[in-house]
Amino acid sequence: MSRLMGLYAQHLSAETPQAYGNEADYDAALAHVAELVCEADAIVVGIGSGMSSACGYDHYHPIPEFDQGGSLERFRRAHGFENLMDGYYHLYATNEERWAFTTAYIDYMESAPVGRAYRQLSALLAERDYFVLTTNVDGQVRRAFPDARTWLFQGDFAFLQCSQPCCDELWPADRYVKPMLDAMGGEGVSVPPELLPRCPRCGWLMAPWVRDEGFLEGEAWRAGKRRYEVFVEDALLGSARVLFLELGVGGMTPSIIELPFWDMVARHDNAFLIRINVGKTAEPRHLGERSLTVCADIADAMGRLCTMLGMAEEGEL
Ligand SMILES: [Zn+2]
Repeated sequence: MSRLMGLYAQHLSAETPQAYGNEADYDAALAHVAELVCEADAIVVGIGSGMSSACGYDHYHPIPEFDQGGSLERFRRAHGFENLMDGYYHLYATNEERWAFTTAYIDYMESAPVGRAYRQLSALLAERDYFVLTTNVDGQVRRAFPDARTWLFQGDFAFLQCSQPCCDELWPADRYVKPMLDAMGGEGVSVPPELLPRCPRCGWLMAPWVRDEGFLEGEAWRAGKRRYEVFVEDALLGSARVLFLELGVGGMTPSIIELPFWDMVARHDNAFLIRINVGKTAEPRHLGERSLTVCADIADAMGRLCTMLGMAEEGEL
């Protein structure tokens, strides 16, 4: 077991997750969050799948918006899966069938508006010094925040890479997706073989730039890593108060956001951890008074925070 995994196992308290018993306790917790956000000199944000789920983009359960257009239904009829992740990891008989679903999936994500909670968070952070690390690959973070302030740790479906990969290059997915969508029409579940995206350098099939066996941790990924490391180091060593803000981070990949955040907060007295998560109330005990977990729906919590901070009237963001 790694040192970080050991921390994870040892320091979670055993409380049972439960939402706030009353509005006053909930608002008091959010008022504390608002105060910490306002007082922070630097904010390091970690965003997991719960943030997109709170915006209606849940890739692990059937998505009505995707289904209404018939896109999911036709793939479900053809292959039997029930949600987007099933569809992405399905073992298709042909590359033409795999790219038919992948194309529809990418188009769905790129056509989806930036979720309200993302827009509210962006407004909340706009005048502050912040950085966003995310494990999400749905493009929401990329479209809500400037590149200079993000690291897309697991990649992003809006880009394609060589599946070998033979080279350190990324290509915008839309130039390949649109012709495949047009050729497939509204009912197709296979794309013409001549439209399959192929690497311009070696001719191998391309793949979405998302974490997988051949994921390209090339210059684009390393640049994000450098930005993050510089920001965090400068913040921890040069700022009076650093806030680590975990939003909707689940338990699938704790070594990317959760455990490093806890570790950094544990080792720096000027750091504080806030977690907003609909499924977590247990505090990391070793952080003592320097952590606050708000067990709540992120969409609701972000809305209340914006109201508390006088950022926008209801409906403006
Ligand atoms: Zn190649």
